[in-house]
Amino acid sequence: MTDKSSSHLSTQLIHHGYQPPADFHAPQPGIYKASTVFFPNVAAMRQREWKDKSAYTYGTHGTPSSFTLEERLCALEGGRHCVLTPSGLSALAVASFSVLKAGDHVLIPDNAYGPNKVLAEGELTSFGISHTYYDAMNPADLASKLQPNTRLVWLEAPGSLTMEFPDLVALLRICKQHSVLTALDNTWGAGIAFKPFDLLGDGLLSVDFTAHALTKYPSGGGDVLMGSVMTCDDVLALKLKMTHMRLGMCVGANDVETILRSLPSIAMRYEAQDKTARALAQWWQTQAACVQVLHPALEGSPGHSHWQTLCAPHGQSDPVGKAAGLFSVMLDPRLTSAQVDAFCDSLEWFRIGYSWGGPISLVVPYNLEGLRSQKPTGLKAGHLVRFSTGFEAAQDLIQDLAKASRGCLKF
Ligand SMILES: *Cc1c(COP(=O)(O)O)cnc(C)c1O
Repeated sequence: MTDKSSSHLSTQLIHHGYQPPADFHAPQPGIYKASTVFFPNVAAMRQREWKDKSAYTYGTHGTPSSFTLEERLCALEGGRHCVLTPSGLSALAVASFSVLKAGDHVLIPDNAYGPNKVLAEGELTSFGISHTYYDAMNPADLASKLQPNTRLVWLEAPGSLTMEFPDLVALLRICKQHSVLTALDNTWGAGIAFKPFDLLGDGLLSVDFTAHALTKYPSGGGDVLMGSVMTCDDVLALKLKMTHMRLGMCVGANDVETILRSLPSIAMRYEAQDKTARALAQWWQTQAACVQVLHPALEGSPGHSHWQTLCAPHGQSDPVGKAAGLFSVMLDPRLTSAQVDAFCDSLEWFRIGYSWGGPISLVVPYNLEGLRSQKPTGLKAGHLVRFSTGFEAAQDLIQDLAKASRGCLKF
């Protein structure tokens, strides 16, 4: 390029011949932005293959930045192939669309992340794909709902909002026995609490796909939306990549940069928010207004023993185990919804808002009615309030909860 020159300023500016020195190494990788990617010649253009990440062809098919993030996420979750999507929800959609076709049936936990059920009721249904909800806390319910055309079973651990930890091992074994594919929404575990592609550490039990809302822990900032889908299987990976490509899924380089910046601290952030969440959950256990604390690491919470098997498997060397900074409480049914809303409104450190994994603690009251097709197993009646912990001092948060409780949660 250096031998080209033009007397026209705009041409000269674009085609300026300066090349920075080749070796530049710094803590963060360079960020590459492209829709167009240049080819040295037409033959190279025709030969290039993006699917195995051996070359670049067009921005939507990958850049050094997106490939780098995909590889690091594979290291996090233990997968071998990964695609990035613009949100966690789109990751769930890409996973489903990559293996489902008209006439297929999919099973979804009744306590799944709500929009995954809404997707099944909407697009999946209108594309001729039927669905059934199963009780994730009852493997026999899953077994009884498998149909000859069941192609995919969604898994989630723990359930969204209500935090019941299912017997993932039993659920997976049922799916394997019937040769049905499995996809795990791995947002809570985040690759840290347990290993979805090697659940028991013996290399024998694995889900087929994970989908992860990178919006939560990998971002950690409450400021980026992104998702990933991952698999270890080469055949499924090709299906996944083709669906991802045909739907035009891709992510912006600035967002990739943000996630790459946050990823090195994910384990520390996860642990810190876990610790705070457990302190708060334990405080709630002492409160008269609270009839049930839903946190899988607490004894008595639905599925606690299944959480122990996967997330605290080392007994004495790691009795604490791992959990995300997320829990819910069931407040006494004798309280009114207005009292519960007033309690949330009067919190000073907690902000009212969806999502989790960010720096600021959040609270949301939920009404389970309308969210469930079956009566939930193991849940007491009451008002559900979900908390996600940020990085504030636990003592400040507990004082905040105590003050708001005194003011609003009186019988
Ligand atoms: C937040 C979340 C999603 C969706 O992620 P978005 O980026 O908000 O679309 C999916 N699954 C679970 C379990 C989540 O918590």
